[in-house]
Amino acid sequence: MCRKKKHLAVVQKADCVACGTCTDVCPRGAITIWRGSFAVVDAALCVGCGRCAKECPASVIQLEVGA
Ligand code: SF4
Ligand code: SF4
Repeated sequence: MCRKKKHLAVVQKADCVACGTCTDVCPRGAITIWRGSFAVVDAALCVGCGRCAKECPASVIQLEVGA
């Protein structure tokens, strides 16, 4: 699991419609919906697979290079 550069899913919270699709498709259970308002990614759990970004109907998830 140790990689030099890890991709991390980042949500544009302001445009998230809290549909829950990303939480359903994430194989790591890394995403939760905060108070029914927007998606939050747990950076410690995200493996950067990109599934959430691909499935988000609002296209508000990007993969960024993390630490
Ligand atoms: S799939 Fe997209 S719009 Fe839906 S909760 Fe996740 S980030 Fe928000
Ligand atoms: S990139 Fe993959 S592991 Fe990370 S939050 Fe999205 S679906 Fe989950």
